[in-house]
Amino acid sequence: MVHIIDLKFQGATESIAAFLMDSDIGPILFETGPFSTFETLTLEIEKIGYAITDIKHVFISHIHFDHAGAAWKFAEHGARIYVHPAGLPHLNNPEKLWGSAVRIYGASMEKLWGVMEPISQDKLVPLLHLESIHLGGFEIKSLHTPGHAIHHIAFSVNDIVFGGDVAGVCIGSGPVVPPCPPPDIHIEDWCKSIQIIRNIQPKYLYLTHFGLVHLPVLDHLNLLENTLLEYADWVLQKMKTESDLSKIIDSFQDMVEELWLENKMDEQVIMRYSLANPSFMTVSGLVRYWTKIKGVEWN
Ligand SMILES: [Zn+2]
Repeated sequence: MVHIIDLKFQGATESIAAFLMDSDIGPILFETGPFSTFETLTLEIEKIGYAITDIKHVFISHIHFDHAGAAWKFAEHGARIYVHPAGLPHLNNPEKLWGSAVRIYGASMEKLWGVMEPISQDKLVPLLHLESIHLGGFEIKSLHTPGHAIHHIAFSVNDIVFGGDVAGVCIGSGPVVPPCPPPDIHIEDWCKSIQIIRNIQPKYLYLTHFGLVHLPVLDHLNLLENTLLEYADWVLQKMKTESDLSKIIDSFQDMVEELWLENKMDEQVIMRYSLANPSFMTVSGLVRYWTKIKGVEWN
């Protein structure tokens, strides 16, 4: 049984999730959310019937704050934290990760994400592609799925996939969109990763933003891939005529809002999308992809 835990990030429901799975050896956690929502996470885990200290295994899709920001607290209580080897050093020593986020978020950093403490090496378990962890009657398989982040892993358990961010963002009955923050966005890798999830043919797909996918999984993945390619091309076309990043961000925001209003999305849902996947991130990530990975000259 998978429990979807709503972390009520910044007071908004259905923006960031963590997932708790009952097993023969106790609860297994997928994603922790940021440390700023740790209190909510604790309360919700207690409501399900466990204490924080019952959690001995925590699987992290990638090290961004909204997914792994509270992992250190579980490690302090003795949990093992499973993460891709390329992300592991940042959990062991989060200083650099913190520093680059401060450049984006400035003074609101702590309010948004809470603090991040180092996790000792002996609590961190590296997982490469297609490694299997057998726990409490389950086989948890890691799927290295870069594109959103080089160190991203999705997890397959029976007919379930926990898709992290590479499987997209879909909130309520809203559209499926790709979260594209800098610095690792890589369109070709992302499409390959979507194919890896397609090949698994999961019946159930869980998104950190947010929850169980209601469409057939294949339809969801096709929509995600189409939108990813559309967003990438939209940004490339804009870059040809606009050299000011903030202007591209503004027109991107106008473009998506127009699209969403056409789809009769209400303002609250739009706000949740903006929290989970802000336009300045998407545009910055895609501009970086075109300039750094594809060598497009700009600006
Ligand atoms: Zn995320």
